[in-house]
Amino acid sequence: MFDINQVRADFPILSRQVNGQPLTYLDNGASAQKPQVVIDAVTRAYAEEYSNVHRGLHYLSNLATDKYEAVRGTIARFLNAATEAEIIFNSGTTEGINLVSYGWAAPRMRAGDEIILSTMEHHANIVPWHFLRERQGVVLKWIDPEPDGSLDPQKVLDAISDRTRLIAVTHCSNVFGTVVDVKTICAGARAEGVPVLVDGSQAAVHKPVDVQDIGCDFYAITGHKLYGPSGSGAIYIRADRQTEMQPFMGGGDMINEVSKEVVTYAAPPLKFEAGTPGIAQTIGLGAALEYLMDLGMENVAAHEATLASYAAERFAGLNWLNVQGTAPGKAAIFSLTMNGAAHAHDISTILDKKGIAVRAGHHCAKPLMEHLGVSATARASFGLYNTTDEVDRLIEGLELCHRLLA
Ligand code: PLP
Repeated sequence: MFDINQVRADFPILSRQVNGQPLTYLDNGASAQKPQVVIDAVTRAYAEEYSNVHRGLHYLSNLATDKYEAVRGTIARFLNAATEAEIIFNSGTTEGINLVSYGWAAPRMRAGDEIILSTMEHHANIVPWHFLRERQGVVLKWIDPEPDGSLDPQKVLDAISDRTRLIAVTHCSNVFGTVVDVKTICAGARAEGVPVLVDGSQAAVHKPVDVQDIGCDFYAITGHKLYGPSGSGAIYIRADRQTEMQPFMGGGDMINEVSKEVVTYAAPPLKFEAGTPGIAQTIGLGAALEYLMDLGMENVAAHEATLASYAAERFAGLNWLNVQGTAPGKAAIFSLTMNGAAHAHDISTILDKKGIAVRAGHHCAKPLMEHLGVSATARASFGLYNTTDEVDRLIEGLELCHRLLA
């Protein structure tokens, strides 16, 4: 286990005040704060080591290319990918899933082909598939969560038909915190010849991930939730699936030859990375993942499990508070509603006056909100630097909300 005081000291923003109160940052599900090592890595990338990558023959370009390309190995290690070439850099999960939608799914799907989704997907894992429904007549099949917010892997597998071409499912719900048994889904899907895309945006932040053990075809992560810079990210695409893909964006860096008549493409992963990339952002992501691996993702998971069970216990004592999603083993993400007229936005505004940052709204999960029959929740999502004292502060804030709003 790590020293929580040391960890907190690594994140400069945590020592600031908000509205005259110490900051209690519980909006990690939306985006996490950055440790000094990430800030330093980004600063160094611009102040001392900046140039465009891949193209130059000069010293700085080679240096920047080496630093940038080294991150591919870091991400491969973080996810336990078999090879670095299976890691495609991008700006985040949204871009990663769109790459799969445009580059792999669109060219091979016909009207009537089916994609299975869970009702608790983030819009980033919904809208790119709606494009295929709108444009190509692909059918979206939805699997609802259980009343406790879990997803039954068997229900996902039972939905497979001979027209199913893809299962796209989150590894961890950004609303419930539920961890989905993607390994069972992947094993069953593989037996039926159906590829699986896993949205790892939330899960990779909270627990160790091993894409080979999971057995998925695609696994998307996003840097800014992983304590790295915004505009950084990656998607793991297993080598055999890469050979089935067309490039999504065309431009510099992804070509082998271009003439007036023809174009040939670079080998993957560059084939799927057009244009000047987020150089400093990616280098910052590398620093963030090294930081996480130094702490140990098992230790991060254990610390957050303690927070999750303490928070669940304290919430259970408030009979006017509803926690959406109570499945065992969930990540420390709590979507809250209150009995009575309290709106999530009012809860968030009152908590903000106490220096407590939570998110209020639909969390880019409108089908799930509809399923739950609510328009919005207030979401407290914990990260590796949060403490049980901060859970207590949240509870005090919620009690104040209840007094003011009930
Ligand atoms: N998927 C899930 C489960 C998320 O929580 C998020 C971000 O909130 C995303 C996808 C989209 O990530 P990004 O906006 O970084 O592309």
